[in-house]
Amino acid sequence: MGCIENKSSPATNTDSDFNAWDEMQPRFPEKTPKDRRNGAHVKDADLPPEGVYLPNNNYQAPHMKSPEYVQLSTAAAITLGIMGGRMYGCECTRCLNLLLTYPEGCRANCAYCGLARHREADRDYADRNFIRVDWPAVPMAEIIDIVAQDPENSPFHRMCISMITHPRSEQDTFTVLEQWTDKIDPDAIPVSILSNPTTMTREDVQKTRDLGADIFTVALDAATPDLFDRTRGKGVQSPHKWSKYWEILEDAKDIFGPQKFGAHIIVGMGETEHEVLNLVQDLVDLGGHSHMFCFFPEQGSLMDHLPATPRDQWRRVQLARYLIDYRGVRVDQMRFDELGRVTDYGLPESELSDVVEEGIAFRTSGCPGKFQDDISACDRPYGDSPPSDIASYPFQPKKRDMKKIRRQLEIPVRVE
Ligand code: SF4
Repeated sequence: MGCIENKSSPATNTDSDFNAWDEMQPRFPEKTPKDRRNGAHVKDADLPPEGVYLPNNNYQAPHMKSPEYVQLSTAAAITLGIMGGRMYGCECTRCLNLLLTYPEGCRANCAYCGLARHREADRDYADRNFIRVDWPAVPMAEIIDIVAQDPENSPFHRMCISMITHPRSEQDTFTVLEQWTDKIDPDAIPVSILSNPTTMTREDVQKTRDLGADIFTVALDAATPDLFDRTRGKGVQSPHKWSKYWEILEDAKDIFGPQKFGAHIIVGMGETEHEVLNLVQDLVDLGGHSHMFCFFPEQGSLMDHLPATPRDQWRRVQLARYLIDYRGVRVDQMRFDELGRVTDYGLPESELSDVVEEGIAFRTSGCPGKFQDDISACDRPYGDSPPSDIASYPFQPKKRDMKKIRRQLEIPVRVE
């Protein structure tokens, strides 16, 4: 395959310069036929797995389960050398993103997510796209064998275990983490946990720390309680609760300590720029970081009919978030219009221009690697946009990229 890109690339919202709440209503999930529920299709066929499984909905997915099997991003599979292909603008990814896997899949139904439960009606779990790419399933032992050959010189600066909503996800996360740290020194390749708070306790958070995890993150995703409920809770028959996510986030703050915890946030699902940046500030005030994603209508998700986040909204939030997270600017120094859009970043023009010029603010945000604190190991190539219209740059933006970014930032906010 060539560079990783989802087949369909819906346009961004061209009518408006931000994705407003009223326009961003997810579809309601349809009922799944009984013979497709809980991975019945895969469990009934019970095909034994044989090595690496490359997602293909034309084949019957084998019966694969964590902790023996995990899925990994297409970028990680290419970097590891178990899949061919090239990625636009980057030779490799710096983060080995792993995803627990089960025939039943994730039991939650988040509206923006390609892994959501409602998809079992037409697609086996191992065949579902997630953040725009396929996730091959690979025996965990095989991944460890490859990386353990030379961890110090590995292209990976970090490994991350993504939990999903499943009754076995805590136990299997511990097992995968233990298997990894048995063979690979976590100082050579630190480990992050992308948690699933809904089924977790404080003791579970502590255990991930005791087993050698370095950073603990919570995929809050939605920026406000109402948006959370609409996209991940009652609104889509999904079990998550905002209060439980914050409970685990607070546990992570206590257990992992400053700069070692954070939250994922998706921008452009209907929140205002002011709301999302207030959340960024709250996280910084707690001692943590925000890792941001630009909303992209994932194919097959309950929001695949909705517009991707307009680039000017995304660039404003991306820049403001970077200033709050890494440059000590506070949200209350910034100014917003009556629709919550950033109109002033709270920095003198020349200082702001220097930060823009550096370009780091527009790179993918996430847990750090070995370069510097504000450069994420987790570069997720094209996880939130096609390469033709990059939202999060998985590489240092070049001259022509900066020209485009500046143009996108210069789109004036319409003050009515
Ligand atoms: S819990 Fe995570 S993996 Fe499961 S549907 Fe929600 S966002 Fe997707």
